[in-house]
Amino acid sequence: MAYTMPRIKFVAGNWKMHGNLASNLALLTAVRSGAASLGGQVAVCVPYPYLAQAQALLAGSNVAWGAQDVSEHAQGAYTGEVSAAMLNDFGCRYAIVGHSERRSFYGDTDTVVAAKFMAALKAGLTPILCVGETLAEREAGITAEVVIRQMEAVMAVAGMAALGEAVVAYEPVWAIGTGKTATPAQAQEVHAMIRARVARDDAAVAEGLQILYGGSVKPSNARELFGQPDIDGGLIGGASLVADDFLGICAAG
Ligand code: PEP
Repeated sequence: MAYTMPRIKFVAGNWKMHGNLASNLALLTAVRSGAASLGGQVAVCVPYPYLAQAQALLAGSNVAWGAQDVSEHAQGAYTGEVSAAMLNDFGCRYAIVGHSERRSFYGDTDTVVAAKFMAALKAGLTPILCVGETLAEREAGITAEVVIRQMEAVMAVAGMAALGEAVVAYEPVWAIGTGKTATPAQAQEVHAMIRARVARDDAAVAEGLQILYGGSVKPSNARELFGQPDIDGGLIGGASLVADDFLGICAAG
């Protein structure tokens, strides 16, 4: 199947469990106005209670907003969970699935991540699928094996056309929130490997796939990372809590 969606540059901000109404107001207002002059598409992924605030403050802007997780279930007796349909109901466009903190602290296995990916897509959201190896896995020389396993778990369930609708983020776990960024060459190597694996099944999807890099991206290292041929943008955590840093990173894309 031909891949027709335009290739867009996309930078997401992942706030994790930070913020409050007052600080979000300042941050979202600054991102909204700073992003107005950016050509690339920008999105922020905020904690559930602040999605409505993002909806209100970002309406009519070129900043999209998303959630940091989603339930794998469509509906039912799952107290505390939030379904993709609920997110879609009021205009949320993105949902992160498989973030390493969900995988390691909340037991999101490859199977659960694939189910969340499908739940998001079925409800009309764009999943942002995170993959990446731990430090121990990198040191054991199994980075490729781990990342390909995480990708294939979703590819097997979703199929290639569905993958083409999503965004992938390569986030080496050892680089998230640690200040230790992967070198541009290390990141490019894994991004190219992901694209090559997807190309084995569908060259058109591989070519159009947005593969973001995440892991201690800062304004000072963003340009070199985003300059790599297979790095299409960034998933930004800590630096997305400081408007000038986040916008500086977006501008580097
Ligand atoms: C993240 O939370 O996905 C992330 C990449 O965080 P940081 O930019 O702080 O490393």
